Amino acid sequence: MAELPCAPTPTLTAIYADYEARQGDGFRDHLGASIIGKSCARALWYDFRWVTPARYSGRLLRLFETGQLEEDRLVRNLRATGATVLEVDPETGRQFRVEAHGGHFGGSLDGVALGLLEAPKTWHVLEFKTHGVKSFNELTAKGVVLAKPQHAAQMQIYMHLTGITRALYVAVCKDTDALHIERIEADRAMAERLLEKAGRIIFAQHTPTRISEDPAWFECRFCDHHGACHEGGGAAVTCRSCLHATPVGALPEEVDTGSSSGSAISNNEGGWHCARHDRMLTALEQRAACIRHLFIPDLVPGEVIDAGDDVVTYRMADGSTWANDARTTEAAPC
Ligand code: SF4
Ligand code: SF4
Repeated sequence: MAELPCAPTPTLTAIYADYEARQGDGFRDHLGASIIGKSCARALWYDFRWVTPARYSGRLLRLFETGQLEEDRLVRNLRATGATVLEVDPETGRQFRVEAHGGHFGGSLDGVALGLLEAPKTWHVLEFKTHGVKSFNELTAKGVVLAKPQHAAQMQIYMHLTGITRALYVAVCKDTDALHIERIEADRAMAERLLEKAGRIIFAQHTPTRISEDPAWFECRFCDHHGACHEGGGAAVTCRSCLHATPVGALPEEVDTGSSSGSAISNNEGGWHCARHDRMLTALEQRAACIRHLFIPDLVPGEVIDAGDDVVTYRMADGSTWANDARTTEAAPC
């Protein structure tokens, strides 16, 4: 029998291209609860400030979709045990959502469940994840808190902001379809530390310190922001990288810590303010930026040697000077 050709074929290329064409601009409006457990605060700040758009291959995007498709089956599996599973908030018809820090921080729950065999009278936050076999084996050996602290952090935030005291973590091994199920208790102190961390990142005017000064450090090698962080420059031109833009919203100590109803908690009075034009900015405007854009100095690999209206001058590492000059263009449309 003739061997099947090794990819790529035109059809395979077209399938992956379709995923890539639909992946959006790679910027997320808020800092996600799903990533707050990341170990590098600088990477989180770069995410929030849209320094480097997230770009994924078609193959990877399809893999993410596989994880989403698995969720329906897991809901069916849980219901088959007699549990009541709500994937959406009955009041809104949308996913349960939690927010804090003026809406700059938040996330969406996979669902909530009541009637689980382990604790039938207790509502649980549901978190579904798929794993490769190596990751799955580590998870079953160590448990989610040690093996996947980012997932544990996400569940702590969801519990804290919904007022639900338990979470059910359901993991699937992509290689064998084996399941791992684990219950997590709410840890108020941990959730508050994570909320405080989110606030520090959101409202920081400067880049937090690196997790490592070594560009070859393993977390750095896989980081989307490697170039901007270790080489400097190259930040995307959006309002999020402009020195005139400030996120406004509730300060950490003003965060609503939730109720016991399990409904979404909203604390989204925030937004982004432009000091140059003295007005709030829509998400679309933030993406477009305007011709008065000036980089946050921490995003330029140089030392500020002069600053005036609409211009900041830097001495670069090689001794040259560079003027980030917004005066040479017409007034901004906004
Ligand atoms: S490259 Fe490393 S230090 Fe820089 S943001 Fe990424 S993980 Fe953090
Ligand atoms: S509107 Fe222009 S000046 Fe204002 S924050 Fe955005 S890019 Fe900067």
